[in-house]
Amino acid sequence: MKKQLINDFLELGLKKDDTVFIRGNLGKVGQLKPRNIFLDALFDVIGEGGTVVTLGFTKSFPFYKVDKKYIFDKDTLPETGALGKLCLKYKGAKRSSHPTNSFIAIGQNANLIINNHDQNSLLYDPIKKLIDLNAKMIIFGIIDESPGFTTVHYAQQKLGLTKQSLFKNLFRVYYRNQSNEVKIYKKSDVGGCSSGFGKFYQHYVANNLLKVGNIGKSSALILNAKEAYALEYKLIESNNSFHFCDNPLCVSCRLSWKYNMKDSFTFCILKIMSLFKGTKR
Ligand SMILES: [Zn+2]
Repeated sequence: MKKQLINDFLELGLKKDDTVFIRGNLGKVGQLKPRNIFLDALFDVIGEGGTVVTLGFTKSFPFYKVDKKYIFDKDTLPETGALGKLCLKYKGAKRSSHPTNSFIAIGQNANLIINNHDQNSLLYDPIKKLIDLNAKMIIFGIIDESPGFTTVHYAQQKLGLTKQSLFKNLFRVYYRNQSNEVKIYKKSDVGGCSSGFGKFYQHYVANNLLKVGNIGKSSALILNAKEAYALEYKLIESNNSFHFCDNPLCVSCRLSWKYNMKDSFTFCILKIMSLFKGTKR
């Protein structure tokens, strides 16, 4: 299996010393025994000078029911699936101390990527470093259910949109700070729903940015972070709602953005209709 993974990573175009931002579903890859062979194979290709980065995102709670027993620290298990957990436990793994949107990095540029990303930072700051490092981004096994590349959220952030959520400061979590004190973090910027990020695909393809391949039994997509970001920024700049999903009942896309109140009327009508339908009998 490890040999096949090495071949697949090479086929995708990974090279020595690459910085790779990766998200995916390890369960779709096939038998990984032990699971570490996934990262071992990746490092066999990118070498000691390479870096692997993934999301270590964790929970937050509505302000009226914050779980006092859930205190984020660097060992809190990520909610980002088995890959996040695997990376966190891999030798040499580093994690940023942002209380909800931490990044996990392993290898040469790990410290550079996670440094200064904490409770005072914006959610997606480490993406800027990935862009500057000319990182490659891979997603595998989640293309249908979670099609997005995180550079889209960074484009929202750079355009000032993540600060325009009506959910601002409503979600909170306790965390342990650098002096080991327990504090509360209020999420003052929001990325929101990513179900509509598949809308960028036709533009990636038209601009020749996207390469398709496999990782084990799962399909995989790879593109360059800098190129993807430049395109995503341009599309969201010209239409601040470009990345929204099409679900008329999506609370995040239809109801949570100050600059998109036009959808909220339709949302309310549809919601009332669906409630009425439910109580009819
Ligand atoms: Zn949505």
